[in-house]
Amino acid sequence: MSQLDGKTAVVTGAASGIGKEIALVLAKAGAAVVIADLNLDGANAVAEQIKVSGGKAIGVTMDVTDEDEVNAGIEKAAAEFGSVDILIANAGIQIVNPIENYAYSDWKKILAVHLDGAFLTTKAALKHMYKDDRGGIVIYMGSAHSHEASALKSAYVTAKHGLLGLARTLAKEGAKHNVRSHVICPGFVRTPLVNKQIPEQAKELGITEDEVIKKVMLGNTVDGVFTTVDDVAQTALFLSTFPSAALTGQSFMVSHGWFMQ
Ligand code: NAD
Repeated sequence: MSQLDGKTAVVTGAASGIGKEIALVLAKAGAAVVIADLNLDGANAVAEQIKVSGGKAIGVTMDVTDEDEVNAGIEKAAAEFGSVDILIANAGIQIVNPIENYAYSDWKKILAVHLDGAFLTTKAALKHMYKDDRGGIVIYMGSAHSHEASALKSAYVTAKHGLLGLARTLAKEGAKHNVRSHVICPGFVRTPLVNKQIPEQAKELGITEDEVIKKVMLGNTVDGVFTTVDDVAQTALFLSTFPSAALTGQSFMVSHGWFMQ
C-alpha cells in the first residue's frame, strides 16, 4: 500500500518544472494526479509518463486565472477520480523590470496568475474537500520571495508574500473541515522560468550571466547550490502525507539557507 493510494491530487502548472516533478512524485506515492496547465500537450505528456509507469493521471487544460476553466478542470478531476484531496497551486510566471518601468498590465498579469489562480483553484477544490468534512491539503507554491525581496521583482514578491495570507486564512477556516494548508518556498530552481531570467537580469543589472547565477541567485545561499525540483517535490510529498493538523498554516523554506525563518 502506497502512502497516497486512493487520494486525488490536482497540480496546476504541472506540464513543466516544479509542478511536473511534484505530479510525478505524488503519482509514484499512489495518488491519481490531474495535470492542469495552459499547455494541454505538455500536461498530456506528463499524464502519459505517469500512466506508462502504472500510475493514474489525466491532463486538463486550465488557465488558472479563468474561473470557468478552473471550475471545469476541478469538476473533471472529481468526476474522473471521485474527489479532490490534494491541491498544489503551483502555476506561475515571472516578469522582471524595475518598478518605474513595470507595465501595469504586467503587474496585473503576475498578480492574476499567482493570487487569483490560487484563490480560484482553492475555492473550487474546497467544494469537494468540505463535503462531509472529508478534508484535504492545499499547498501553495510560494518562494523565498514570500519572505525576502529582490530588485526587479515587485509584482512577484508582492504576490508570493500574499500567498502566506491566503494559506494562513485557509488554515483557520478549513480546520473544522479537516483541511490544512501550507506554502512551500523554494530558492532558485533551474526551470524554464529561471533560465529565462538569467539573460534578462544580466542585461538589466549590467553584469554577466555567470554573475547573475553566482551573486544574484545563489549569493545568499550557504553553499552556492541550486535547489532542485526533487527537493521541492519531496517537501510536497511530506506535507501531503503528514498525519495531523500539527502542521498547518506554515511556510517551508527549501532554499539552501538563502532565507532562514
Ligand atoms: P515553469 O515555467 O517551468 O512552469 C510553470 C508552468 O505553469 C508551465 O507549465 C506553464 O504553462 C504553467 N502556467 C503558466 N501560467 C499559467 C496559467 N495562467 N494557468 C495554468 N498554468 C500556467 O516554472 P517553475 O519554475 O516550475 O515554477 C513553478 C512555480 O514555482 C511558480 O509558481 C514559481 O513562481 C514557483 N517558484 C519557482 C522557483 C524557481 O526557481 N524555478 C523558485 C520559487 C518558486
